Amino acid sequence: MTVSAAPPTIKSRVLIAGATGFIGQFVAKASLDSGRPTYVLVRPGAAASPSKAEGLVSDRENMEKLLKVHEIDIVISALGGGNVLDQLGLIEAIKAVGTIKRFLPSEFGHDVVRADPVEPGLHMYKEKREIRRFVEEYGIPYTYICCNSIASWPYYDNKHPADALPPLDHFKIYGDGTVKAYFVAGTDIGKFTMKTVDDARTLNKSVHFRPPSNFYNMNELASLWEKKIGRTLPRVTVTEHDLLAIAADNIIPDSVVASFTHDIFIKGCQFNFSINSPEDVDVGTLYPGESFRTLDECFNDFALKLKDNNKDAGSHGNATPNHVVESLAISASCV
Ligand code: NDP
Repeated sequence: MTVSAAPPTIKSRVLIAGATGFIGQFVAKASLDSGRPTYVLVRPGAAASPSKAEGLVSDRENMEKLLKVHEIDIVISALGGGNVLDQLGLIEAIKAVGTIKRFLPSEFGHDVVRADPVEPGLHMYKEKREIRRFVEEYGIPYTYICCNSIASWPYYDNKHPADALPPLDHFKIYGDGTVKAYFVAGTDIGKFTMKTVDDARTLNKSVHFRPPSNFYNMNELASLWEKKIGRTLPRVTVTEHDLLAIAADNIIPDSVVASFTHDIFIKGCQFNFSINSPEDVDVGTLYPGESFRTLDECFNDFALKLKDNNKDAGSHGNATPNHVVESLAISASCV
């Protein structure tokens, strides 16, 4: 009997817009790790990356050409919150080529049709909802990634909090600190996003990231960090009124982050709805064999980073006080 070898699995070809960004870097790395031919859209003047496809997503003609020439199957956008509507040109191009098997627009946060933050965060959600409307009207196959918060200390004024260490002088606790949120390591946002891209079960669905092990409130988060640094820190309350006042200042992007912080840690926007509808899927249910990095592990990484920073400062003969280390922008390895 002759047993013929199974035909090689043909990997989908992926194009990522926004791959040089905070979230996009995790997705691009996971795409490469998955062995898929991966193209990243690099804006003129940006740094070189894995496989390059120059251009702006808003340039419909150029995007159409790129999708055809590189025979792209899957398009992932991780454009920043201020550039959401730039995706319209890309969507027109996807519609025109008609061969894209899946489009993941720039979401990577809350379910924008359910969450209802105050302004100016609401403005961004309205734009993301607009993008969803076009995608669905055009009949483009899609997946919406609702990955909740990135694993880090959730600073109310930092849109990329995983780039910073948790506090070292005092904690700012939102409200009474008891409202919970889901925290997901950046590497897991990338890993699970790439699992969904050609999974039939995620076609035209919102995929929710709700790892039970990473469901923490501010008080628990503070205690976790205190354990890692081996000391307790004072806690200062930031009230609902404070957050709303910072949001009302309309300083972009800080006020946008403050409005989301209010939605998460005062209103409980990440868990105040069930995901039982046919349009929703839970990523943990889809891939039960795949574990998430725990917040405990992520905070271990931050503690190691802190140790390294202190060592570096010591070796240069100018040990840095903790409050200064806190303000350094660092690339934490957990994310
Ligand atoms: P960044 O601002 O870090 O990066 C944006 C990326 O988009 C960059 O690579 C930028 O390119 C690229 N870009 C922007 N406009 C264009 C354009 N017209 N054409 C081509 N490329 C463009 O974005 P974030 O990572 O902060 O945001 C990505 C998504 O993730 C957003 O939807 C945001 O809301 C969400 N998010 C979620 C977080 C969470 O905790 N869940 C945290 C932060 C963001 P260039 O390098 O040239 O500027």
